[in-house]
Amino acid sequence: MAERYDLVIVGGGPAGQAAALALEGNGLAIGVIDEQLRPGGQILRQPPREFSVASWMTGKVYAPLLKQLRQFEAATGIDWLGGRSVLGLAPDAGHGFALTVSGRDGVETIRASRVLLATGCQDLAVPLPGWTLPGVYTAGGIQAFVKSQQIVPGNRIVMAGTHPLQLLIAAQIVASGGTVAAVLFAQKRRTMMRQLAGHALKAAREASALLPAGAAMALLQRHRVPVRYGESPVAILGKDRVESLRSTEREIACDAIGLCYGFVPQSALPRMAGADMIAGSRAGGWSTECDAWFRTSVAGLYAAGETTGVAGAAAARTAGTIAGTGIAIDFGLVSEEEATSRVSHARSERARHLEFADLLDTIADPSGHFPRIEAETIVCRCEDVPSATITPLLDGRSANAVKLASRCGMGLCQGRNCEPTLLRLLAGSGRTDEDNGFTARFPARPVMLGDLAAPK
Ligand SMILES: Cc1cc2nc3c(=O)[nH]c(=O)nc-3n(C[C@H](O)[C@H](O)[C@H](O)COP(=O)(O)OP(=O)(O)OC[C@H]3O[C@@H](n4cnc5c(N)ncnc54)[C@H](O)[C@@H]3O)c2cc1C
Repeated sequence: MAERYDLVIVGGGPAGQAAALALEGNGLAIGVIDEQLRPGGQILRQPPREFSVASWMTGKVYAPLLKQLRQFEAATGIDWLGGRSVLGLAPDAGHGFALTVSGRDGVETIRASRVLLATGCQDLAVPLPGWTLPGVYTAGGIQAFVKSQQIVPGNRIVMAGTHPLQLLIAAQIVASGGTVAAVLFAQKRRTMMRQLAGHALKAAREASALLPAGAAMALLQRHRVPVRYGESPVAILGKDRVESLRSTEREIACDAIGLCYGFVPQSALPRMAGADMIAGSRAGGWSTECDAWFRTSVAGLYAAGETTGVAGAAAARTAGTIAGTGIAIDFGLVSEEEATSRVSHARSERARHLEFADLLDTIADPSGHFPRIEAETIVCRCEDVPSATITPLLDGRSANAVKLASRCGMGLCQGRNCEPTLLRLLAGSGRTDEDNGFTARFPARPVMLGDLAAPK
């Protein structure tokens, strides 16, 4: 590991890899930090090296991403700093940034002149009665088991929500030998079809992005997995763990549930650094505001990929290429004119991907489909705060004030899961000003106090 890097990239997914590759060979000291042991990010979450997995991510749509991943792994001159979580970043006394990082050996500080945040997105956590029972996952949680460990976390799984990604995850479960009891879409099929038809041109331009969904539907049909529309989860039932899901139409016996209402950008680090943020997608959350070269409002800090808005892996890759090239401009390695010509292909590809992402965002829009929260429904699961504790506080207070009064958002996840719910509740109670949500606090990830007290 270098004493000081010219550039640290946080996140080794499609965006982080593309940025590193755009800068490789320029003589810069580049470190890429990721909490995963191996690069790949969310979409190419690699199994451990010791595993031998047949047909891993073989679909045609993954080919360009796999190619880039192999290039990244083969690249020399880029330090891969896997298995480390960035807890926070702050201005360094001299110049640049000091990143506080925790890993297997404890807490350390990594310094860099410039930092690119390519930390991706996360599932939108959606509370409903019974959602804290063991056996309830976000869709991404289930996918992480299946992709990286080849584990199907249940014998009979129900997928429920609004995001079409749940079709892919259901198909991945079935292909891995699991049983999916049903896939439930809260929205009506004809509404989804109308939205798709209304933007037929956008859809046709990105036909390849629709192929995996089509293939997933075909697989689910072959395995007689019911895919139902206009059916929402109402409550999750069970004594010590999930035993069934009650929907608006029926009760379905199951021992695991994947909730899939969409994705929100990972925003803890840019917010902690004081970067300007804008509202995320229709699912909520905060995206990092950037200029055309992915510079944030904080000098020397860049953001790319889904940290700047959820738009899919292909768009994240193009953002990484553009951000990496922009960083080359700022290091004086390339003129703006030359850089502009280098990224012209990435920019036009990106514009196409963003159009499609907007269509997907419309189709998957969870607003209007969130399950009803009862008084006893837990909103903040780290601190066990039920809705009944929060409701009386919705009297015009800010999110921070509700947090202070209720402990909602004060737990291990630092509000990553409950903040979107609280902001929805605040909006529903008539607080219409631009509430900036919780103040982002160090550490962005849980850390042992002993490690913090005695850094390396
Ligand atoms: C569950 C789930 C499933 C998805 N499935 C698809 C799909 O099928 N198709 C599709 O196009 N898109 C999918 N997406 C969206 C997907 O994340 C992206 O399209 C793509 O992976 C984004 O690339 P990225 O480089 O921006 O971020 P990511 O690929 O998510 O990479 C970000 C990396 O940053 C790391 N990281 C984050 N915070 C920290 C930190 N504090 N310290 C250290 N490391 C950190 C993460 O470990 C991760 O490896 C999915 C997203 C999720 C959450």
